Amino acid sequence: MVDYEAVVIGAGVCGIYQIKKLVDLGVKAVVLEAAPDLGGTWYNNRYPGCRFDSESYTYGYSFSRELLDEWHWKEKFSSQPENLRYLNYVADKFDLRRHMQFNSRVDSAHYDEAANLWRLSLSGGRTLTTRFVIMANGLLSIPTLPRLAGMDRFKGRSFHTFYWPHEGVELAGKKVAVIGTGATAIQVIAEIADKVGHLTVFQRRPNWAAPLNNSTISDGEMAEIRKRYDEIFATCARTPGGFEHEPDRRGFWEVSREERVKLWERLYDEPGFGIWLQNFREIFTDEAANAEFSEWVADRIRQRVKDPAVAETLIPRDHGFGVQRVPLETRYYEAYNRDNVLLVDIAKTPIESITETGIRTSARDFEFDIIVYATGFDAITGAYDHIDIQGVNGEKLADKWKDGPSTFLGMLVAGFPNLLMPSGPQSGSASTNYPRAIEIGVNWVTGLLEYMSARGLDRVEATKAAEERWTRHVTEMYGMMLMRKAKSWFTGYNSNVPGHEAGRIRYFVYNGGTPKFVNTINKVAQNDYEGVVFGSPGPQGRSERQQAAAS
Ligand code: NAP
Repeated sequence: MVDYEAVVIGAGVCGIYQIKKLVDLGVKAVVLEAAPDLGGTWYNNRYPGCRFDSESYTYGYSFSRELLDEWHWKEKFSSQPENLRYLNYVADKFDLRRHMQFNSRVDSAHYDEAANLWRLSLSGGRTLTTRFVIMANGLLSIPTLPRLAGMDRFKGRSFHTFYWPHEGVELAGKKVAVIGTGATAIQVIAEIADKVGHLTVFQRRPNWAAPLNNSTISDGEMAEIRKRYDEIFATCARTPGGFEHEPDRRGFWEVSREERVKLWERLYDEPGFGIWLQNFREIFTDEAANAEFSEWVADRIRQRVKDPAVAETLIPRDHGFGVQRVPLETRYYEAYNRDNVLLVDIAKTPIESITETGIRTSARDFEFDIIVYATGFDAITGAYDHIDIQGVNGEKLADKWKDGPSTFLGMLVAGFPNLLMPSGPQSGSASTNYPRAIEIGVNWVTGLLEYMSARGLDRVEATKAAEERWTRHVTEMYGMMLMRKAKSWFTGYNSNVPGHEAGRIRYFVYNGGTPKFVNTINKVAQNDYEGVVFGSPGPQGRSERQQAAAS
């Protein structure tokens, strides 16, 4: 007997929907969440300026008409407090909270082959068993700090943006440092520049950013959006990124420079990722096209930043626009026109240490009251590495994925039976509008469980051959994308995580786009889950599946 048929790890956007589906199916299931409450990303990240980069009404769940009709998004790109309210509303509406256990961090998950079950150990010593483990542990849920001398010596306040104190931080009159200029930092910097006494930004490499162009949503507009929901979700399903933004299908080189610029000028002033995803497709694959567009964006930065030297420092030289996820901003560049904001180029004058009173670079000492580390995440596989996951014969997932993940469809792993990943590495999630891909993954995983239940099957595992095929496919797709050259979490880069420094690509993300991904996983399901091996409780079932798994 197992304690649960399924344990879902994580009560964020993915875990909430997954438990809803399991409850509907009548499966005895529980969500284990390390944090004190639900919400995942939107529970943890409380830094000023934290908000969606997806249009709010494309981010919400699509599974319930009633929910769509009830919820009123207040802003086109909704902020963290409202997003967290939304997730709580969903959980309460569908009575999901009673299936969730908080402050329940899973430390280890070991597969017991003889009993065909997973044994989980939680912090605090609790243990439990489950037939299936469903990973909903987030793509960006393990924050990483720099490895700098003296970090524990600093006498002021310091924290990673992920741990921005929930009660808020008094900023007025304070000398504040922000380390990092990724999407998070760009939101924080723009939001706090006029609230702090003085702000110093430590930038190692600039990012290409573009205006969010946020606005409020009136009652009338929300009523119109509700009428359009079917169309909105159909568009998201049709586009590679799962957004409403559809790429411009004209060839970059087939239209005149004048036509190209006309498109860019329009998109730059429009909301959201249009400037990235409604652009010509060549910007993702063609160096010359990307260079021309990047130079056009660079000119926009030059127009917005008054000091030419500061503008040049903010323009990336090592990668083109859009080869990594584009941070969207609200008056970010204008922050550098303020007298109380200083940009320090630590590529030229590196940080040497954190001191008792601030930060020492190779050029000088700075004094601060607060140091904010906006230094990113151990992305995609980090949340897996933080749990001791062991499959058949005690094989450790962290060892198997040492040089990068290998999966079947991003949802199953050979040698790790009944470990399901609705939004795993190499799945359709990371490079898209996350909830759209999550619903796809959760529906597929739930469909698999239904299929097994109907046939009395209790064990599922990807074959090695299917896993190798998928991983090769994911790898080959990087070859077509300029993204492969970027030092970003999409390629597994993080200077703060040993082994993840620049130099080796990890094939983290499926780059084929939503429609192709859906088509592939649906075909697998229609073909009786070609590429996976099932087992049933009877002795014959076991031996069949063991032979097949070994092949
Ligand atoms: P990130 O993109 O990885 O950026 C981390 C930043 O910290 C980079 O500028 C990096 O510089 C810098 N950094 C890291 N370690 C450093 C060190 N030791 N010394 C100096 N600088 C260091 O992380 P993020 O900004 O948290 O964003 C991650 C992802 O989260 C985004 O791509 C996005 O998908 C998501 N996100 C979304 C939103 C939203 O709008 N919904 C908002 C925030 C984040 P280098 O580039 O030189 O490494």
